[in-house]
Amino acid sequence: MRTYAYGFPRIGNKREFKTNIEAYWKDKISEDELVGSMIGLEKQRLDEYKKHVDVFPMGEFSYYDNILDTALVFGVYKAENMDNYFSYGRGKKALEMKKYFNTNYHYLVPVIKKGQKFRLAWNKFLAYYDNFDGKDKPVGIIGPYTFLKLSRVEGNFRQTFGDLCKVYEKLFLKLKSKGIKTIHLEDPAFCLDVPEKDVKDIVKNYKAMIPEEMAVNLVTYYDSVDFLEDVYKIPFAAIGLDFVAGEENISNLKKCGFPAEKKLICGVVDGRDVRRSDIKAKVDLIGRIKKAGGIKSENILISNSAPLFHLPISIEFEKDIKPAYRNIFSFARERLYELNLIKKTFSGETKKAEIWSKAVVGKGTRKTNRIFDTHSLPERSYQNRRKIHQAELGLPVLPTTTIGSFPQDAKIRGMRKKFRRGDISSTEYSGFLKSKITDLVDKEEQLGLNVLVHGEFERTDMVEFFAQKLKGFVTTKSGWVISYGTRVYRPPIVVDKIFRKVPLTAGETLFAAGLTDKPVKGILTGPVTILAWGFCVRTEPISKVAFELAEALNEEARGLVSKGIKIIQVDEPAIKEYCPIKKRKEDAYFSWAIRSFNITTKLPEKVQVHTHLCYSEFSTIIKRILKMNFDVITIETAREKGKVLDVFAGAGFKRQIGPGLWDIHSKYPASISTIKQILEKSIKLFGEENIWMNPDCGLKTRGWEEVETSLERICNVARGYRNKAPFASRKAIK
Ligand code: GLN
Ligand code: ZN
Repeated sequence: MRTYAYGFPRIGNKREFKTNIEAYWKDKISEDELVGSMIGLEKQRLDEYKKHVDVFPMGEFSYYDNILDTALVFGVYKAENMDNYFSYGRGKKALEMKKYFNTNYHYLVPVIKKGQKFRLAWNKFLAYYDNFDGKDKPVGIIGPYTFLKLSRVEGNFRQTFGDLCKVYEKLFLKLKSKGIKTIHLEDPAFCLDVPEKDVKDIVKNYKAMIPEEMAVNLVTYYDSVDFLEDVYKIPFAAIGLDFVAGEENISNLKKCGFPAEKKLICGVVDGRDVRRSDIKAKVDLIGRIKKAGGIKSENILISNSAPLFHLPISIEFEKDIKPAYRNIFSFARERLYELNLIKKTFSGETKKAEIWSKAVVGKGTRKTNRIFDTHSLPERSYQNRRKIHQAELGLPVLPTTTIGSFPQDAKIRGMRKKFRRGDISSTEYSGFLKSKITDLVDKEEQLGLNVLVHGEFERTDMVEFFAQKLKGFVTTKSGWVISYGTRVYRPPIVVDKIFRKVPLTAGETLFAAGLTDKPVKGILTGPVTILAWGFCVRTEPISKVAFELAEALNEEARGLVSKGIKIIQVDEPAIKEYCPIKKRKEDAYFSWAIRSFNITTKLPEKVQVHTHLCYSEFSTIIKRILKMNFDVITIETAREKGKVLDVFAGAGFKRQIGPGLWDIHSKYPASISTIKQILEKSIKLFGEENIWMNPDCGLKTRGWEEVETSLERICNVARGYRNKAPFASRKAIK
C-alpha cells in the first residue's frame, strides 16, 4: 500500500507567505526577492511531503488563489506582470470573493463571459518544473467541472463546459509531450447535488479529455459522490473519495463495487479537523472500504480526506499547549505522519502507531442526522414584543446604529501586543481600552446614533476572543490558516465541555453603557460561527457542542441584561456557509444551527434581540432564517443597492430590518444617494416602522475618516426623513 497526500498549506512555518507577499505590495522587497522567497517556501512545502508520503502533486502552489490561477491558465484573464496578477485579488478591479464550498477558505470568482474563448494562456505547470524537479509526480489541477461550478458562467453552461474540456485536453497533451505521465485532478464539485444532465456531460467530456496513456487521478472531497457508477465510465486511473465527511461513500462502494483496474485514493485521515487519528481505527476503516468495494490491497492509496490547507502546519510550534491536549491534535504535518503510520501498520510495523494513538480517546466519527426542534417563536409574538420594546427603548423612527466594531489602528494592535508580551500591566491595558471606549461613545453621541456600541476594541477576532475566555477551548500561537489571499486566522479548538467561568463581554459593554443615556447593544458572536471558524476534537455530535456553547453565551447575555442592557445582538455570519453541501443534509443541519441560536437568545421578552448576518444571499435560506428568534436583523445590501430586500418581502417578512447602507469593503464613504435609494425601497417594502439604518458590517478594517463621513451621512438622512412628511406628525422624534 502506498500513501498519497495533497493540499499541504503554503503559508510557511513562520507565515513567510503572508510576510513576503505583503512586503512586496508595500514595495519593501523587489519582485526577484519575492519570487526567490516563494521558491524557497515551495521547496519547504514539498519537503514536508517527501518526508512522509509516496505520492503528492506538483504545482499546487499559488501566489494568491488557485481558482484565479486556473482562470489565468485557460485565458479567462491575463496577467502580464506580478502587479497585474495581484490586482485580481485586491484593489479596485478585484474579483468577487466567495466561500470555497462549506469551508472558510474564500476563492476569487472568475466571470466566464458569453462566448468566452478558452486557450492555453499560461503554462503554470511547466514554468513550475523549471524550479522543482518531480516530473515523475502528478500535476495537480482543479477539474473543469468544479472550476465552472465555482465561476460565474454567463453563457450556456453546457456549451462552456464542452469548450473548456477541449482546452484541458490540450493542456494534458502538452504536459504529456514534456514527459509528464500523471494528473491529479481535484473535483470537489462532484460531491454537490449534481443534476442528471450534468452527469451525462461530465462523462462525455471527461472521456474525451483524457489522453491515452496518461493517468488521471480524480480526487473528490467534502462529501460523497452520488454518481459513482457513472464516474467509473471515465478512464480515470484512480478515484479519490472522502471517507470522513462522505459517510455514504462506503455504502456507495457496496452498491456499485469498484473497477478492478483502478486505484482507490482512500481519504481516511481528516483534512478539515484536528483530532489526532486513532491509527488502528483508520486501518479498520480501510479494511471496511476494501471489503465494501471488493478492492485489492495493491489498489489502495492511503490519503487525506480533504486538502490539508484547512489545517495549521504543525503542533510542534505549540509549546504552550498542555501535552494532554497537544497529544490529541494533528495538524497538516502530523496528518502526513499519520498516513505513514497507517501504511506501516499494514505491513506489520505497529509500534509507532500504538504510541501515537495512545492519547486518543473516544470513538472516531461524528454524526448528526437527528432533526431537532428549533424552539422558534410564533410570528405573532414579535408584534407583542415590539410594543414592549417601544416602551423600554423609546427609539425614534428609523433608528440608527452600527454593527459593532470600529477602526482598529496600529496603536490598538501595538498595545495589544505589549499587553500580551507583558510589557504593560492589565490595568494599563484596560485603562487604554476604557479611553478608546470613552472617545467612541462621545463620537457616537455627537454623530447622533440612536443605539450605541462599545466598539469591540478588545477583540482581535470575533471568534478567538470568545474562545479565549470560555472554558473548553484551546487557542494556538502559530496555528495560522489562510482564509483568503494572504489573510490568515487562528481557529480555536474545542477540547472539552464548554462553559462560562467569567463574564466575556461585560467589562467593556457595561463601561460603555455607563457613559451614556442611549441604549448600548451587547454584542456576542453566535455559537455556529464560533464552531464553523474553529476546530473540535470532541467526538460527540457537533449539535451537542453547539448547544453547550449556546447555553454559555446565553448566560453571558442574561448577565448583561441583569445589569441593564436592553439590546442583545448575536452575530452569525457563518450560519449559512457552514451548511453541508448536499440538499438532503440541510434539514438536519439547520435544525441544530437554529436551535443553538434560539438557545443563545432565550431572554426576557423585554430584551430586543438583534442578529447580524454578513452577506446578501438569502434566496435559498430565507425560510430557515425566519425560524431564528430575533426582532431585528441587519444584513449587507449596499453593494447591490437593496436587491436582496425583495427576498425578505417575498417571504412575508414582518419583523424589523437594518439594510446595510454602506459597503464597508470600499474605502470610499457611503453615498447619500445610495443611502436614500435603499431606504426608500425598504420603507416601501416593509413600512417605516420596521427599518433601521446602519452600515453593511463591522467597521474594524476601515479608517476613521470614511467611517465618520459615512455615519454622518446615514444619521443626516435619518434626521431628514424623520423631520419631513410623512414623519412630521410623529411624537417620538428626537
Ligand atoms: N460585530 C462584528 C463586528 O462588527 C460583526 C462582524 C461580522 O459579522 N463579521 O465586527
Ligand atoms: Zn458582517
